[in-house]
Amino acid sequence: MQHQKLGILGGGQLGLLLTQAAMRFPVSVSVYDPDPSCSAAGFTDRFVRGDFSDFEKILAFGLDQDAVIFETEQVCLDAILELEKKGVRVYSSPQTLSWISDKALQKEKLVSVGIPTADFVRISGSEVRSYEGPFPIVQKWRRGGYDGSGVCIHTEKKSIQSAKSVDSIFESCVDIAMEVSVIVARSRDGDLVIYDPVEMVFDARANLVDYLIAPARLETAVTQELYVLTKTMAEKLDFLGLYAIEFFIDQKGHIYVNEISPRPHNSGHHTISTHITSQYEQQIRLALGLPLGSVDRLSEAVMVNLLSEEAQGQTDYKGLASALSIPNVQYTFYGKKEVRPFRKMGHALILEKTLEKALERKEDIRTKLIITAQ
Ligand code: ADP
Repeated sequence: MQHQKLGILGGGQLGLLLTQAAMRFPVSVSVYDPDPSCSAAGFTDRFVRGDFSDFEKILAFGLDQDAVIFETEQVCLDAILELEKKGVRVYSSPQTLSWISDKALQKEKLVSVGIPTADFVRISGSEVRSYEGPFPIVQKWRRGGYDGSGVCIHTEKKSIQSAKSVDSIFESCVDIAMEVSVIVARSRDGDLVIYDPVEMVFDARANLVDYLIAPARLETAVTQELYVLTKTMAEKLDFLGLYAIEFFIDQKGHIYVNEISPRPHNSGHHTISTHITSQYEQQIRLALGLPLGSVDRLSEAVMVNLLSEEAQGQTDYKGLASALSIPNVQYTFYGKKEVRPFRKMGHALILEKTLEKALERKEDIRTKLIITAQ
């Protein structure tokens, strides 16, 4: 392989970790983001400022690269389709982004290939507030939602009255026993690697993942079923690149696909330390035309998202020295200079011999480290 130029669309936490993984390869990395102080910007002197909706700017940025990777579904689809047409390798496949970025199209695709997903109907923006029931019902904006912001569980008619009037799907409520994520990477030749399922535990207050347990505490038969569903989806839906699939397992043990992300995912941060090849490296290998790496697991882990308090202003890491004295924990901070309520500021990876011990350490981190405004 010759030295290559790699462009990363998005310099947030995922862009930062992609950049770090890319720097171990013979590449020059450029980062594109609307915010010049984004997490990844400090890692490259080739930073381009631009909006994710700017067709011309993304095209110009991408045409200067051998390969382009994106970290967000909000990126201009037409621009990356055009880049691919012009011979730039774009990962994950823009064709898959075209239906993944619309929750109605995504669910219809899943149904068309026989993948179980919660029942749903399309509701246009003007129809949202006249929805009559049944309740509870989950409203999901078709486009533009991120980190729970486009998802609302309506429990009664009254809450529908103040619902956001945007084109949505209304999905039946699943009685969730466990939320699980599975990350899969697939190459142009059809080679496929699947990481162990990860258990995601939510923080209801922040509507974000609180912590993850990797691998998920599941019976072997359930893990197998998740692998089969993942492989079927990857093959029937023409996955090309790295994808995260979020599943619900309900109280009766039924499995439903919640949603797909065509990019590295928060639920795969741990793979940097627990696997021979991280999720980030897989995407870089694919973009550079290199073979996928092994997903052999080196250890178990608990990953804790480090969210800021409900505060706004310049970031202050209170108790950091004390948190750093907790053994067997690796911290990654995303370098965000300002906090907003419940912003993802970093993560802690707890590498302990037993899960019990790791969960104890998690509580210790929560007590010692407070990320707030100065
Ligand atoms: P986002 O794209 O913001 O991650 P999700 O579709 O993952 O949104 O939904 C966020 C959370 O809302 C889920 O992790 C889950 O806890 C809850 N949720 C979503 N859909 C349903 C559903 N059909 N039934 C019950 N809870 C749901």
